[in-house]
Amino acid sequence: MNFKDLTNQIDFEKGEGLVPAIIQDVKTQKVLMLGYMNKESYEKTIESGKVTFYSRTKQRLWTKGEESGNFLNLKDLSLDCDNDTLLIQVDPVGPVCHKGTDTCWADENKASSIDFLLQLQQVINERKKNLSEKSYTASLFQKGINKIAQKVGEEAVELVIEAKDEDKELFMGEAADLMFHYLVLLAAKDYKLEEVVRLLVERHSK
Ligand code: AMP
Ligand code: ZN
Ligand code: ZN
Ligand code: ZN
Repeated sequence: MNFKDLTNQIDFEKGEGLVPAIIQDVKTQKVLMLGYMNKESYEKTIESGKVTFYSRTKQRLWTKGEESGNFLNLKDLSLDCDNDTLLIQVDPVGPVCHKGTDTCWADENKASSIDFLLQLQQVINERKKNLSEKSYTASLFQKGINKIAQKVGEEAVELVIEAKDEDKELFMGEAADLMFHYLVLLAAKDYKLEEVVRLLVERHSK
């Protein structure tokens, strides 16, 4: 595809050099985020194949994912009826929102359910980077992988014990403990929950 053809059609004038770019997931069709592009960021996007905005906050070119690794791989792009808004279809590498959700419009319900695991994973990885912090999670990373793995084993045993009883609160408490320490172990090994899920999806489709 030759995306460059659009460059001269885009109306950058109207927005004082910037056009809004709606980012859509090419597979799910979900709207993921919105950013702004100037001519330079547009050209960088089509040259690199990675969506690059002009960040009004940073006041510079910003390749989405430059810090997090959660790049937006360019798949297709088009202009609206009056050439002042871009629709960009992408294949996102990881969660698009810096808060850890797959879109920037994850509502509170979503954020409080399964998607929260991704946010939690992000927090855990931050604790791993800042070991000096006075946090339980940081102290786990300081003790090392063997200790963390042992904790997972302990929490699993506690869950097994609670499974024999009827007390939902105790059982759920241990289920949460296990999941938390499991996420810490994945992070300690530099693996991601998404990789585990991908494996499950692959197995399921066989
Ligand atoms: P990233 O580009 O993903 O490496 O993230 C770098 C920084 O950009 C983050 O710390 C946020 O400040 C900001 N950022 C990342 N993703 C978004 C987003 N979807 N919406 C707004 N700001 C973001
Ligand atoms: Zn328009
Ligand atoms: Zn966001
Ligand atoms: Zn426990």
